[in-house]
Amino acid sequence: MKKKIWIITLFPQMFESFIDVGVVGRYFDGVNAEIECLYLGDFSPKSFKGADGAPYGGGPGMVMRADVLEGAIKKVFSNYSDPSNLEVIYTAPRGEELTNKMSRKLASDFTAAKGKDFVFICGRYEGIDERFIEQYVTRIISIGDFVLSGGELAVMTIIDSFSRFIDGVLGNSESFEDDSFEEGLIEGPSYTRPEIFNGVKVPDVLLSGNHKLINEYRVKKKLEFTKKLRPDLYALYENNRGKK
Ligand code: SAH
Repeated sequence: MKKKIWIITLFPQMFESFIDVGVVGRYFDGVNAEIECLYLGDFSPKSFKGADGAPYGGGPGMVMRADVLEGAIKKVFSNYSDPSNLEVIYTAPRGEELTNKMSRKLASDFTAAKGKDFVFICGRYEGIDERFIEQYVTRIISIGDFVLSGGELAVMTIIDSFSRFIDGVLGNSESFEDDSFEEGLIEGPSYTRPEIFNGVKVPDVLLSGNHKLINEYRVKKKLEFTKKLRPDLYALYENNRGKK
């Protein structure tokens, strides 16, 4: 069966170019998988308009209704003989924080032989009714300690990040092995043509053709950048190295 990612959102149009373009588009074209967006507005009962209500107890803003969200998720469930085998992901500041390590795990969970399909719930307003989270959500992920106005960008961030770890998505030329975080370090500087830009020449060693020297230079720069720009990561790296 085709692997599938479902997205439940009030703004399906936000996903159109995301799905078509770049790494994610290539992945979903290249392998047997697809993304389908469900528009939440289609699941609000006739008795009221929209998908939100005022919060019980008062306070500013609106809350997304559990019954409307349930309508959408039941539609997703109707495609599966065993809906308990779906990973239903809500994004929120309170969730576990997205890291490269988590993305790698999401990719392997998604592509495993009996891997789960994913359902992403995009929150808006002040968030979603807690009862929906308790009854349907299997996992909550945050993309960082800040507040977005909606879950759509968070969902795109998560999908973009884990798709890169799926075999066949990145070509050799953009393998993730050298990327930031892979060894607990961030990536060093990159250069391309022109060789001299506003009077500044590309470092000689990169033009030398000597792979051993180039490699040494890159490792040195990674360490330098990490120490300077991410002292927190550098301390961890040093600490882990000490243990080896
Ligand atoms: N009142 C909520 C924030 C609501 S923001 C709070 O204080 O926690 C509206 C929606 O944006 C949320 O439902 C959530 O889906 C999404 N969102 C906001 N910040 C996010 C973050 N850091 N990571 C992932 N999703 C986030």
